[in-house]
Amino acid sequence: MAEAYDVVVVGGGVVGAATAFHLKRLGCARVALVERGQVCSGGTAKSCAIIRTHYSIPTNTQLAVQSLGVFENFREALDDDEAECGFVNSGYLILAPEGKTADRLAANLDMQARLGAETQPISPAEAIERHPLLSADDIAAVGFEPRSGYADPYLTTTSFVRAARRLGVEVMAERPVTGLLRDGARIAGVRTAGGDIAAGAVVGAIGPWTGALARWAGAELPLEVSRHVVLTFRAAAPYERSLPVVKDLATDNKMYFRPASGGVVLVGTGDHGDPLDEPDAMDETVGLEVTAHQGVQLAHRMPSFAGAELTASWTGPYDITPDWNPVLGPVPGVDGLHVAYGFSGHGFKLAPAVGRVLAQSVLGLVPEVDIAPYRLGRFAEGKLLTGAYGIGSIS
Ligand SMILES: Cc1cc2nc3c(=O)[nH]c(=O)nc-3n(C[C@H](O)[C@H](O)[C@H](O)COP(=O)(O)OP(=O)(O)OC[C@H]3O[C@@H](n4cnc5c(N)ncnc54)[C@H](O)[C@@H]3O)c2cc1C
Repeated sequence: MAEAYDVVVVGGGVVGAATAFHLKRLGCARVALVERGQVCSGGTAKSCAIIRTHYSIPTNTQLAVQSLGVFENFREALDDDEAECGFVNSGYLILAPEGKTADRLAANLDMQARLGAETQPISPAEAIERHPLLSADDIAAVGFEPRSGYADPYLTTTSFVRAARRLGVEVMAERPVTGLLRDGARIAGVRTAGGDIAAGAVVGAIGPWTGALARWAGAELPLEVSRHVVLTFRAAAPYERSLPVVKDLATDNKMYFRPASGGVVLVGTGDHGDPLDEPDAMDETVGLEVTAHQGVQLAHRMPSFAGAELTASWTGPYDITPDWNPVLGPVPGVDGLHVAYGFSGHGFKLAPAVGRVLAQSVLGLVPEVDIAPYRLGRFAEGKLLTGAYGIGSIS
């Protein structure tokens, strides 16, 4: 007889792990988390794990504010004395050049403050007081979040998995899902390399691999996958771990940077990235041109990084939807199937709250943050959640 659960969550990234944890915590009796490899081996493992509440879509800010509270009180939130997420409360600065980007930033700060985000406009001179390595001659507006910072994606995910397991979630690693089981029109479980698993409901949280889920379900799940490059640089003096995260909207690829272990700065981009047909076929090589371009932009923003040494580079996949916001909730026409995918480069900071509201939705409860704006149907309805800064992970 097939193994049987009330809910099977597919995908052991940060989103699947948080969802499985909350399903169990909300009283779901039998929950399984099924991962094709080891937990945290997908996009989450490559994440820069920056945590901020700056968004222009109000529900994104609400999810980010709730999640920040979890990162700040991680052990309490997971009810696990050994849980660790590596949160560093360095603060967050978002810099905008003169013009419409600065105007939008000011409007977004007002919206965020109304929704409980601790954020404030400061002058470029004040930004330099908080981050003395910055040069801000071309910056007109700055937002500052004192409570934000960055965390460790591996610690966060494995802590959610351990807390879920302690509550009784069955965690199955090295168990690739290969299809969906059906009972008439309803989804009745998953097919895996290690045998069928029956389930009352299935949650697909497989990020960049969601194309496979769409094929199994025969459903249209809009998704594009792209490759993003992360670099770390070392200057003459060690880059302090307490320096605020910086988002630079004055750059052509919406560069961001933050401290990383070993006195280096970690640099990434909030642009479209390189289109990728197949997430498993990602070219891990980082070209000289990209490195040089980021090096020049970084040295412009922090002159002490002129001539800095490149210390590491890696690539990671973004699962992008047409409006750069996730799809959360049931898949219409495929009873029993729920999804959480398309985090478009900004899902780490949202995951603690997303796991909770998705679990509430799966269990037929009213989600604490309205997830209707993230419904799959919004694309066909033309009700996109396009952010104020256009494409990119600040939406
Ligand atoms: C370079 C980079 C930098 C980023 N920086 C930030 C940041 O600073 N802040 C932020 O908030 N977000 C950031 N993000 C985005 C964030 O990391 C992601 O949105 C988030 O980690 C997505 O988590 P996930 O659980 O949805 O997906 P994933 O972590 O990709 O998890 C999906 C899981 O599904 C598994 N899977 C796939 N197929 C199957 C199958 N058939 N059967 C079973 N399991 C399967 C995979 O192995 C994987 O473990 C970044 C992303 C990248 C790539």
